[in-house]
Amino acid sequence: MYDTNNIFAKILRGEVPCKKVVQGDYFLSFHDINPKTNVHVQVIPTGPYINAHDFIQKASQDEQIGFWQGVNETITALNLKGNGYRLIMNTGTNGRQEVQHLHIHILGGNDIGPMVVKK
Ligand code: 5GP
Repeated sequence: MYDTNNIFAKILRGEVPCKKVVQGDYFLSFHDINPKTNVHVQVIPTGPYINAHDFIQKASQDEQIGFWQGVNETITALNLKGNGYRLIMNTGTNGRQEVQHLHIHILGGNDIGPMVVKK
């Protein structure tokens, strides 16, 4: 069940401030409060979706297209296309998802190293 009191829902409602990058009908992007790289931004859908599979299964076509357009607009606004970036969508317990509103991390601005440390 989607928790309407998660921190990103509060950001969407304007109850918690954020450093906005771009906003559209179906998405909001903003800088991460605890950046792991020189550029670390979150893109979130405006609808109440918990994670990747919740969004893929339930969101309308307009919402899904609008979200990915938001990712593209944010990458463009951050000027990351030239040197590259990484997109991460942590999901569930094993994915170490902390905030239970779908979000995609955009990480860039420096060489961010290997994708995952091998166990
Ligand atoms: P997750 O582990 O769920 O994939 O990532 C959650 C991200 O949300 C973390 O990178 C964390 O720093 C970020 N975050 C948590 N609370 C806030 C907040 O209040 N504002 C912003 N801008 N980012 C937050």
